[in-house]
This record gives sequence, structure tokens and C-alpha cells, in this order.
Amino acid sequence: MGSKPLENNKRSRTEVMKLKLLKSEHKLCLICMEEHEVQTVEIEEFDINGEFSFTAVYEYCDRADELLENEEMIMKNSNELKASRRSK
Ligand SMILES: [Zn+2]
Repeated sequence: MGSKPLENNKRSRTEVMKLKLLKSEHKLCLICMEEHEVQTVEIEEFDINGEFSFTAVYEYCDRADELLENEEMIMKNSNELKASRRSK
């Protein structure tokens, strides 16, 4: 049996998306509810139809490999989306 390890095929969310690290701070992570380095990242997002791209900001938990939008980010991200629509 010559099965190769599949490690190289694994892709975390961070590699798939174009992700830019803005800052990293030690605090209570609202994703896994533990204290650790939580990263604030910027991602280029597209709307549902793929017509508009905009920059969205999220908190990223590297333990759960999940992104979280806090209230402030939801506001900012929806404003970015609206702004990108207007510019078309
Ligand atoms: Zn976490």
C-alpha cells in the first residue's frame, strides 16, 4: 500500500482567501471563548453575484480556523459593500 500522506492537500481558510493581517492582540476570543492571540484581518470579499468586491474586516481565530464579525465590523463591512456598489 503506497498511500501518500494528504497533508499537502490540506488548506486552511487563511490560505484560500486573500487575507491581510492588520493586527494581533491577546484577548478573549469570541469564537472559541478562550484567551489567546486574536488576529484582525482584512479580506477581499465579493457580493453574492460576484459583481462587487470590497474589503471586509474580521477577527480570525487560528484555533478554530474561523472568522468573526463583531458589531463594529458588521457596520464597516456593510458600508464598504454599499460604497463599492455606488462606485459602479
Ligand atoms: Zn479563538
